[in-house]
Amino acid sequence: MKPIPFNKPFIIGRELSLIADAVTRGHLSGDGYYTKLCNSWFEEKLHCHKALLTHSCTAALEMSAILCDLQPGDEVILPSYTFVSTANAFALRGAVTVFVDIRPDTLNIDEKLIEAAITPRTRAIVPVHYAGVPCEMDTIMDIAQRHKLLVVEDAAQALLSTYKGKALGTIGHFGCLSFHETKNIISGEGGALLINDMRFIERAEVIREKGTNRSQFFRGEVDKYTWVDIGSSYLPSELVSAFLYAQLERADEITAQRCRLCSAYAEQLAPLEHAGKLRLPRFDADSNGHMFYMLLDSLATRTALISHLKAQGIYPVFHYVPLHSSPAGRKYGRVSGNMQVTDELNERLLRLPLHYEMNDADVARISAAIRDFF
Ligand SMILES: *Cc1c(COP(=O)(O)O)cnc(C)c1O
Repeated sequence: MKPIPFNKPFIIGRELSLIADAVTRGHLSGDGYYTKLCNSWFEEKLHCHKALLTHSCTAALEMSAILCDLQPGDEVILPSYTFVSTANAFALRGAVTVFVDIRPDTLNIDEKLIEAAITPRTRAIVPVHYAGVPCEMDTIMDIAQRHKLLVVEDAAQALLSTYKGKALGTIGHFGCLSFHETKNIISGEGGALLINDMRFIERAEVIREKGTNRSQFFRGEVDKYTWVDIGSSYLPSELVSAFLYAQLERADEITAQRCRLCSAYAEQLAPLEHAGKLRLPRFDADSNGHMFYMLLDSLATRTALISHLKAQGIYPVFHYVPLHSSPAGRKYGRVSGNMQVTDELNERLLRLPLHYEMNDADVARISAAIRDFF
């Protein structure tokens, strides 16, 4: 039987012709025609003040960490159940990453535990919208305001998800998006920094342009450009931006297809959930169909189910090794409170194949194989 990979990068329409057009335009480094089109797309579609395309979400997180002006020993609060970059970007600035446990229902940071993690050194909170499902942003923004903290949304998985009508990534001071090939909208590697507080725009442009005021120079605001601050090269090439723009043009369609596949999984697997064999993710109209996972009863069941599925050419995956127990997490971070939910759930979570080119028959085949296992 045809293998069903966990993920498959896809082309939806004009990707290759827009790359050819970028070449014809004679500008392939950063901030050309397509990068500007992408930035405007985010600003209009998501209603954010300023969007800056980057070469990855990791880059956007690193820019946020510089913008937070962290001093060595400052603290940043984040979940342990997340991708490495959420923490690494802040550790790079000498900050201590303070890990907080997650909620058992959404696997997002437990907002009720954040306040207990705050110390006089705390500077920022980094909520991660796991699986594109929103964190409790009202509570988090309220805590941040009362303690004068900055909020960096890791919205890597959350493009086109909303919280109370607002696009994820546009609620905190900064929002970081990813277009890595495993995300909903892709450009191979890619990302964007959304800046929702105008005070940070000018410095963000400098940081992204190797610490120079080149953006102001191109706008004619200064007559020469020079080194003015720390920074790095965080711009994507126009080749990447052209590919991305072709996907953004069809972003609603891509998102709808993923949501459809998630609903099909939910329907097919509901009987197993009712029978108490597994737990399915919470799905609301406000999320973007980024991920379909199951929570099984134990690590042993997960291991056995993976072998069962692989034998039939179906390739599920799991993640993350909780950061608080990873070698670098122990070195650069500490926990606040206990990590009970994180430690328990990470061993039981299994992600099912989900990508744009899958269809209902694939979902039916995978679901049947899972029912067969139980
Ligand atoms: C994918 C992901 C990242 C990193 O994105 P890149 O674009 O690969 O740098 C960061 N955080 C989370 C939660 C992610 O899922």
